[in-house]
Amino acid sequence: MVDLKGQYVRLKDEIDAAIHEVLDSARFIRGPVVSQFENALTECTKAKYAIGVANGTDALQISYMALDIGPGDEIITPSFTFIATAEAASLLGATPVFADIDPKTFCLDPDSVEQCITPKTKAIVPVHLFGQPAEMDSLTKLASKYNLPIIEDNAQAIGATYNGTSTGSMGTMACCSFFPSKNLGAYGDGGAILTSDPELETRSRMITNHGGRHKYLNETIGVNSRLDALQAAILTVKLKHLESFTLARRSAASYYHSLFETIDEITRPYETPEGFHVYHQYVIRTKKRDELADALTNAKIPYGIYYPVPLHQQPVFQGDITPNITLPETEKACEEVLALPMHTELTHAHQDRVAEIVIKHAKTLIYA
Ligand SMILES: *Cc1c(COP(=O)(O)O)cnc(C)c1O
Repeated sequence: MVDLKGQYVRLKDEIDAAIHEVLDSARFIRGPVVSQFENALTECTKAKYAIGVANGTDALQISYMALDIGPGDEIITPSFTFIATAEAASLLGATPVFADIDPKTFCLDPDSVEQCITPKTKAIVPVHLFGQPAEMDSLTKLASKYNLPIIEDNAQAIGATYNGTSTGSMGTMACCSFFPSKNLGAYGDGGAILTSDPELETRSRMITNHGGRHKYLNETIGVNSRLDALQAAILTVKLKHLESFTLARRSAASYYHSLFETIDEITRPYETPEGFHVYHQYVIRTKKRDELADALTNAKIPYGIYYPVPLHQQPVFQGDITPNITLPETEKACEEVLALPMHTELTHAHQDRVAEIVIKHAKTLIYA
């Protein structure tokens, strides 16, 4: 599905040098390398502040904490996402309320979000899923109508834009993940919080450091969540290549698009006119998803199913937490989606081989 090794080999000299610089400096926690990466991230996203943290899940939790989200509060989030978006809220005693998605973009449906708003709602948390920016115009209008902050879950979409504005700079806060397989991947865990609000920057930074701005002076309850200096050094090198990574992903997507153009059984990913999609995943839809998955397994072609079980149907969210709701578009997507190999090192030959199996399978279905 991804080729981390191939990318490393291509960038080896630059990355090894950056790692050795950290080793030689012996500054492993915080320090100039982390600040340098944070600055580079603000330049890239145009958010005023970036705060490196240990992973994307922490970035979400700390953002919720910075906004004082806690027991009795609700956040509105998609059910069609990775568990972390909701889990971080539950961990703080807040309740994730699940809205449905737009079937074309896989991102939050603003109408469904509005129906979920209650006096307890404390934030809207859109996810730019698979690298496609969520419908930020409508969501921003909703947020100002109800005076709610937006926290962008930007874990899958670094480098994406919406009407020319970078994802991660549109919400009150935003969260990034640098998990190795993400579009900007570290060689271990990493994450960041983005905001342009100086007070939220101060609060978030404090929370990441045991709730204190000065050593041994703790002003609030915090956590220990730091971006490792070694990871920051690696990420600083890789951030310089992010644009070319994105172009490689988009060009692979466009080649898949051309290969599947005439195959009616396969619904190709949709790109909104406002959004610059960065293809964290290339996700197709088909009514015979499980059969296609079997065919790919037999042909030894890797694939992924993101996500097979929606959050509102996860055992952990059953019972009191989530009443028995149905989210038709979310449930349908969980049955129909399949992600094909997508990374920066894909070649047309790889993609031809993948498409051959997908198309052969689709054609068998027609004649079956
Ligand atoms: C990866 C991911 C996260 C969590 O990031 P980690 O760095 O793995 O903690 C959160 N939300 C979404 C949508 C993700 O894809």
